[in-house]
Amino acid sequence: MKILVTGGAGFIGSALICHLIAETEHEVVNVDALTYAANLDALEAASESPRYAFEHVDIRDAEAINRVMNEYQPDGIIHLAAESHVDRSIDGPADFIQTNIVGTFNLLEAARAYYEQLESNRKKSFRFHHVSTDEVYGSLGDEGLFTEKTPYAPNSPYSASKAGSDHLVRAWQHTYGVPTVLTNCSNNYGPWQFPEKLIPLMVLNALNGRALPVYGDGQNVRDWLYVEDHARALALVFEQGKTGEHYNIGGLNERTNLELVRTICHELNAIAPDANIGPREALISFVDDRKGHDQRYAIDASKIEHELGWRPIETLESGLKRTIRWILDHPEWAKTARDRGYDGQRLGLAKG
Ligand code: NAD
Repeated sequence: MKILVTGGAGFIGSALICHLIAETEHEVVNVDALTYAANLDALEAASESPRYAFEHVDIRDAEAINRVMNEYQPDGIIHLAAESHVDRSIDGPADFIQTNIVGTFNLLEAARAYYEQLESNRKKSFRFHHVSTDEVYGSLGDEGLFTEKTPYAPNSPYSASKAGSDHLVRAWQHTYGVPTVLTNCSNNYGPWQFPEKLIPLMVLNALNGRALPVYGDGQNVRDWLYVEDHARALALVFEQGKTGEHYNIGGLNERTNLELVRTICHELNAIAPDANIGPREALISFVDDRKGHDQRYAIDASKIEHELGWRPIETLESGLKRTIRWILDHPEWAKTARDRGYDGQRLGLAKG
C-alpha cells in the first residue's frame, strides 16, 4: 500500500516510517511541517529507499493537503502530526487547537473528498488511522485501567485538543462513512524524542550533573512504552484493525515519576560514572507541580493483544538501557535541540 504518514519527522512518526520501510513492502509519503520537534536525521535509514517520499507541508493548509492527496493517491493515511507537549500547551494552547483540531479537520475533509471518488475496490481497503493518546481519558486514582470504553475526560489543553480530534474522526466515520481506526497510546520514550520530555530531559541533565527537576511530590504514575513497540502496534492496527474500532496501546510498565528518575540515575551511575558528579540521585530536586497535573495513567491493552496479537517486547529496564545508550552515542542530537533554543528550561508555568 501507499501510506500517507503525517508527522513522520517527529519522534514516533520517524520510528513508524523506519519500521514500515524496513519491515514491510509499503510505500510511504511523509507529510510534515518540520516544527521544532522534527528531525529529518531520524529518517536516514528510510530516506534512501525508493519507497519513501517527503512533502514539506503544514496540515493547517487545507489546499496543500488536497494537492498531496491528489498527487500521491494514497491507499491510506496514518495521522500523527500534532503539537505533543503538555507543558507547551499550558504556555501556548493556540497552536494545539490549530494543528491538532483544525489540522485533523483539514485531513478528514481531504480524505472524505478523496475517498468518495475512489473506485469500489480501492474504497474497500482505504482507511484513515488517527494516532492519539491515553491522556484523553483524564486521570485515574490508585486503582483501575483505561479501557476503550472509558469516557473521555481530558484535563490539559493538549489532551483536550487530542480528544477534540478523536471526536472529529469518530464523526467523519459515523456521518460520512470515511473508514477510520483510532489508537490511544500511553507515554512513549526512546531514540530521537525531543529533550523537553521527561526521560530524555532527565538523562541529559543527569549526564551533565544538572538538577533533576521532579514535578510535585514525584508520585504521579505513567505507563511507559518503548517507541519501536508503538511503531509495530501502529503498523498492525493500520493493516489488520477493524474499521470503526479503537484500540488502546500500553507498555504494561507503570512507574511513579520519582521511581523512573531514580532508575535513570541508577543506570547512568553504572554506564557513565563521573567522579565529579557522584551518584546522580543527589541531583533530584522537587519543583512546583505542573498545573492540572493528572495523577495516574494506566492502560488496559488486552483488546489489541487478543484481537491482533500485539504485546510490547521491551520492559522499562531494557528500553531505558537502549535509550540511554543511544543518547550517549548521539551527542549531536542534544546539540540540535540546543541550537533550536531548548536547553532543559522549565516549560508550562503559564507565565505567558
Ligand atoms: P513530536 O512532537 O515528536 O512530533 C510531531 C511531528 O508533527 C513533528 O515532526 C512536527 O514537525 C509535526 N507537525 C507538528 N505540527 C504540524 C503541522 N501543523 N503540520 C504538519 N506537521 C506538523 O510528537 P510525537 O511524540 O512523535 O507524537 C506523535 C503523535 O503521537 C501525536 O499525535 C501525539 O499526540 C501522539 N502520541 C504521542 C505520545 C508520546 O508519548 N509522545 C503518546 C501517545 C500519543
